[in-house]
Amino acid sequence: MEIWIATTNQGKLKEIKALVPSHFEIKSLQDMRAYTPPEETGKTFEENARIKAKSLKAVKPNVWIMAEDSGLEVKGLNNMPGVFSARYAGDNARDVENCAKVLKMLSIRSPLQREAQFKCAMIVYSPEGTESLYEGVMKGQIAKDMRGKGGFGYDTVFIPEGSDKTLAELGDAEKNKISHRAQALKSFLSSITQ
Ligand code: IMP
Repeated sequence: MEIWIATTNQGKLKEIKALVPSHFEIKSLQDMRAYTPPEETGKTFEENARIKAKSLKAVKPNVWIMAEDSGLEVKGLNNMPGVFSARYAGDNARDVENCAKVLKMLSIRSPLQREAQFKCAMIVYSPEGTESLYEGVMKGQIAKDMRGKGGFGYDTVFIPEGSDKTLAELGDAEKNKISHRAQALKSFLSSITQ
């Protein structure tokens, strides 16, 4: 069975592929010939996930479609970067630039309020067109500096609750036991294997 994932983010795809059983064939936007992803104009993760899922469904009907939108909310930054996580330091900003901006803004605004969370909203369309929403949250805090080499995005600056290592130090296998994305994906997978 094919599941089409509305992303080009290699970090997300790697995590998703590690969790999805092998009888599913994972396809992504890289397997599309001509497709322009929609603008993510939503105000919430859920709205953006739905925008991405609907857009892909319009050109790929009658298959499983999954789109997720996710991001980092930092308490000391009024829950920013939130839906702007991918472009916090500017359009096409690199991960290292986004992480550096979080560290800098937090050191200016609220160095002691380092609580943060990752959120994920996942919208799935079944081949028949039924929409379902799955969500996940991972709580933790922002590290004092970037640490570790694994993962993507803000993994080098996020220390999950109960750990003293960043996600980038913990690595994919540990991250997939606890992450916001893994929680949402596991809920989806259990709903279709029941
Ligand atoms: P999206 O592709 O619009 O959902 O952008 C999500 C952005 O949030 C990514 O580019 C990362 O910057 C950040 N993000 C989401 N999930 C994670 C994660 O698991 N680790 C680190 N950063 C993440």
